[in-house]
Amino acid sequence: MTTITETNYEVHDASVLNWARELIDNSPSERLAADEVVHAVNRNELWRGRECLNLLAPEAPTSPIVRKLLSSEVGIRAAEGHIGPKQRWFAGTQYIDEIESLCMELLKKVFRTNYADHRLIASMLGNMTVYAALTEPGDPIMTMSQPFGGHSSNRIDGPAGIRGLNIRDIPMDPVELTVDIEQFAKTARETRPKVVTLGASMTLFPFPIKEMAEIVSEWDGKIFFDGAHQLGLIGAGLFQDPLKEGASVLTGSAGKTFSGPQSGIILWDDPELTKPFTDTIFPALAATHQVNRVAALAVAAAEFLAFGKEYMGQIVKNAKALGKAFQNQGITVLGSHKDFTETHQVILDVGKFGGGYHAANQLAEANIITNKNLIPTDKPEDWDEPSGLRIGTTEITRLGMKEDDMEVIAKLIGDVLKGDESTANTKKRIHELRSTFDKLHYCFEE
Ligand SMILES: *Cc1c(COP(=O)(O)O)cnc(C)c1O
Repeated sequence: MTTITETNYEVHDASVLNWARELIDNSPSERLAADEVVHAVNRNELWRGRECLNLLAPEAPTSPIVRKLLSSEVGIRAAEGHIGPKQRWFAGTQYIDEIESLCMELLKKVFRTNYADHRLIASMLGNMTVYAALTEPGDPIMTMSQPFGGHSSNRIDGPAGIRGLNIRDIPMDPVELTVDIEQFAKTARETRPKVVTLGASMTLFPFPIKEMAEIVSEWDGKIFFDGAHQLGLIGAGLFQDPLKEGASVLTGSAGKTFSGPQSGIILWDDPELTKPFTDTIFPALAATHQVNRVAALAVAAAEFLAFGKEYMGQIVKNAKALGKAFQNQGITVLGSHKDFTETHQVILDVGKFGGGYHAANQLAEANIITNKNLIPTDKPEDWDEPSGLRIGTTEITRLGMKEDDMEVIAKLIGDVLKGDESTANTKKRIHELRSTFDKLHYCFEE
């Protein structure tokens, strides 16, 4: 057995990899190693699925039909190419064409757009599609820095960096938590970015898309809205509608607020963009694009048309109620002067409780799952130990929780952060709370 040491470098945690290596090497049969995988899946399902309060902003529980479709027979079929008999490399895809066209048309209906593509297995690839189609290496672009919620996909270490783009920060207002439009006008006119990317992982309020689109139109620049997180809210008409306000393209994660299978969606209206985008998707970034996932996405879109408005509305109501309940406990909540949030997220400054890393781990001990987050008072280098804590309301909303339940949750979290209650006792309370919310809402019966 080769133990992983510093001499064979891994970016992953060596002790965890060594655990796996030892288990595999010591298993008397391959079957036992396979069983161990299944056990880990089951342990996760029991713990995260039934015992934890899951408040991670990028997660959402998929409906029973969506989950079933993810393991369907069509998931073993190959159908690369575009929809229709002439456009595929393989024969025998007539039912797959039906699944994919239903998915695409349902997505267009949900988002009220002329075009949608369903073949991206991650939203990261949607962002890569945008940069590949709309820029050349060396082009200037402007994107949001991480302390303001910007995502690596639009920064030097993600697709934008891989494309070799010259990235400048969009000036942000640290109090209003949106773009500083005067500074933006100045920097943008100097930089003349090909693309300006809005949207963020930490996202509370809308952006001045219209004003920004007018500015970049002076040199034919384009606004790209990375709506990974807000996708469901946009679909429900509860957040700004980027394409109607002047953005040229919108990408999003199907598995975040939209509550479909984890994957990417790209949406646009301008027919001139259709060829550049779809030529990049196939054959550059998607081939075997997981038709089981496409079927699941189609059903998630149909469920969204039926229940999305009510579901997304409650997500935002719950987030606002949670923000208020935290503030009432003396905890600093970002955006408190603007009713805390217009999305599914609530951002706490937990600097005085030992910082985000400590807070998230302490809460996880009590079966409350959140994540550490950079906030505007942090520097990008504070990545490992930032001051913020990000909380999302998507999962607890789909489980049927309402505003009153947010007060209970804020108290449970506040008590752990302040050291007023032990993690062991809180864990028991969380378990009780979870057992009273065990049914998924806003979806079709199986
Ligand atoms: C999560 C996220 C992504 C990546 O989405 P995946 O579907 O996980 O690939 C891209 N951009 C932003 C702003 C995100 O928050």
